Amino acid sequence: MRYVSTRGNGGLLGFCEAVETGLAPDGGLYVPEKLPSLKPLLEGDKAPAYPELCKAFFRLFATDIDPAVLDDCIDRAYARFDDPAIAPLRRLREDLFVLELFHGPTLAFKDFALQLLGNLYEAQIRRTGRPITVLGATSGDTGAAAIHGLLGRENVHTFILYPANGVSPLQERQMTCTGADNVFALAIKGTFDDAQSALKEVFGDPGFRAETGLSAVNSINLARVLAQCVYYLHAWWQLPPAARENLCYVVPTGNFGNILAGWWCEKMGLPEATFRIATNRNDILYRLFTTGRYELARVAPSTAPSMDIQVASNFERFLYYHEGGDPDRVRSIMSRFREDGRYHFEQFDRDRFSASRADDERIRHHIREVYREFGYLPDPHTACAFEDLPGEGTKVVLATAHPAKFPTVIEEAVGIHPTAPALEALKARQPRSFPLEPDPAAIKDFIRNHRTDSPS
Ligand SMILES: *Cc1c(COP(=O)(O)O)cnc(C)c1O
Repeated sequence: MRYVSTRGNGGLLGFCEAVETGLAPDGGLYVPEKLPSLKPLLEGDKAPAYPELCKAFFRLFATDIDPAVLDDCIDRAYARFDDPAIAPLRRLREDLFVLELFHGPTLAFKDFALQLLGNLYEAQIRRTGRPITVLGATSGDTGAAAIHGLLGRENVHTFILYPANGVSPLQERQMTCTGADNVFALAIKGTFDDAQSALKEVFGDPGFRAETGLSAVNSINLARVLAQCVYYLHAWWQLPPAARENLCYVVPTGNFGNILAGWWCEKMGLPEATFRIATNRNDILYRLFTTGRYELARVAPSTAPSMDIQVASNFERFLYYHEGGDPDRVRSIMSRFREDGRYHFEQFDRDRFSASRADDERIRHHIREVYREFGYLPDPHTACAFEDLPGEGTKVVLATAHPAKFPTVIEEAVGIHPTAPALEALKARQPRSFPLEPDPAAIKDFIRNHRTDSPS
């Protein structure tokens, strides 16, 4: 399997190279040259265990990795999840299910991809002998998941920038109480945007990139989207066969990464599935999928902070298929959007998508109602999914985080203070973070001074 850029000038790359490169040199994102059929993965009379399904899936995409190495990466990635089903499907009602994606080490769905990515990086370093330096900026969950995916990996040095006063106390503890000496959480004196723009400048220095083997772990990473496909298939297997027809996955969405993974599954043969984009008040995707107008607005902070995003970077991968795989069209739309901050589609084919949006008040309302009706506690991101659910057919809500990650909102809504053992354990640990100015030179110096190659 080989990969091409959505903008047409990113070469023809193997899986490992596409993962290592991240953003294509032409500014586009890598997509499979041809989507394979997943039909063989949906046949048989017994549901495969999660790791087995994942192995069969990645054998189609990571064709340049030795299958034994790949299997080992996958086995170890999901061994640390705290539920034997890895992604258990809970039934709330005959036609309503919740797919729990928060049983990994940092209690959010990003662990599915980042635990595996950590193993893939490590395998790659063993093969090439080149150490790598991972640099990322986070407003919360991605940083924690990346850090826990890369913790203690040989010859991987991880530097995560976060706004010193812009993440929740629990999220900060998840990043700073790791006890690992190859991981550095840098508390940037500024906003997330300051951190992000300093990071872009560091990545813009080719000499520094080569010197340190710099790699990014942001949500456009191909391996992340692919790893997220697997739980859509796993959910399908766990449903009673009659419930698989007329099936809608309801997905709390920010960067369009998670939901894109499901839609790719449908394009590859997951039968009859539709997808509902559930946004919070930052509703650019809701507006696009209901009006055909893609228009930037200011990011407004919400009680579902991991979805406080306007430019959904993975949207470009949807656009590529929307425009019939024509990279010239993608380039022209993306450049118009970059210049004007908006793009109006004359004909917008929503394909299998519908959309909903929930502001903070509706989020609290859904936390209360879902708890009252089903005795189930959704986190504020998951709560967005319950807005205006379709009446017909089976609904599978993707629960993207554990409620204990957001105790304040939950307590306001239902008067319960949720906890989780993994979070309680953090309170006993010593935080280690490094305050830094949002200055590219200071960040580079810090990285140079803290890349101590571990003995192999
Ligand atoms: C990252 C995140 C999202 C948004 O996922 P996208 O792939 O950006 O759409 C939703 N919920 C939680 C809890 C997250 O951490």
